Amino acid sequence: MPKVVVVGSINMDLVALASRFPEPGETLSGERFATFAGGKGANQAVAARRLGAEVTMVGCVGDDLFGRDLKAGLEREGVETRHVHTAEGTASGVACITVSGAENHIIVIPGANHRLTVADVEAAEAEIAAADVVLTQLEVPLAVVEATASVARRHGVPLILNPAPATALPAELLAKVSYLTPNEHELSIVLDAGDTPFPDMMARLPGQVVMTKGAHGAYHVDAQGAFVHQPGFAVDAVDTTGAGDTFNAAFATYLGEGAAAAMRYACAAAALSVTRLGAQGGMPHADELAAFIK
Ligand code: ADP
Repeated sequence: MPKVVVVGSINMDLVALASRFPEPGETLSGERFATFAGGKGANQAVAARRLGAEVTMVGCVGDDLFGRDLKAGLEREGVETRHVHTAEGTASGVACITVSGAENHIIVIPGANHRLTVADVEAAEAEIAAADVVLTQLEVPLAVVEATASVARRHGVPLILNPAPATALPAELLAKVSYLTPNEHELSIVLDAGDTPFPDMMARLPGQVVMTKGAHGAYHVDAQGAFVHQPGFAVDAVDTTGAGDTFNAAFATYLGEGAAAAMRYACAAAALSVTRLGAQGGMPHADELAAFIK
């Protein structure tokens, strides 16, 4: 079982369904409400765990009902939560999502995710040192991501950075990243590259970029400069929420088999996830992935 440490966000997604969106100042009677555990960090931790990795989560929830529920949910999935902190006097991270037809409006409030500190990462140094791979995203403070990269580098542990939500990243951070896993839009923002064609963008960080491209699958330029394309698996997509999270988790879990093999597992796991509703709801278990990919 590979050991994976995930440093990242933990959110509660609050989803309201309505026949249309309200006008400013209007109160509308909606149709349905549901809560879902989310946050890119927690999603990736759960997905990696379901695929059989031993997962330690480093994150922060608020001292509210959501925080207790989110932490308990991670524990039920079998994720180690010793390094999931509770920030006093702070609300848990939430995503307020309104859905009408195929459209949605989303407000993400980081809350306790922005209370995760460099010291929290350093407190998990022993777990990071013992890990096969560290996985992080950009929903926690950049200083925390930078500290994660430094600790992983210090112990020679590969770091996967899923640069979402995207922002331009400093070269010193990129230099410490083993694999950067953006979609095409995120890669352009990270490199501040405008509408440069993606093969040219990828060539700027040889060996490092694994770019996802929806149903087309994923692309990689290996350390020798060779272009690798893993086609997507043909499925009937029902809900693509969490496809990227499942991809990252599977890529981390199978990285020990090499980047090209890991991309294949990642595309297969992500394809399975889009055939089912919800982010964590759609994430496959190892036996389902094995049956799908054989
Ligand atoms: P994000 O959700 O982060 O924007 P993508 O849309 O690129 O990321 O999807 C991530 C991965 O999920 C892709 O590389 C692909 O393997 C898989 N995937 C996404 N959409 C589909 C689809 N419609 N059919 C099959 N696989 C898909």
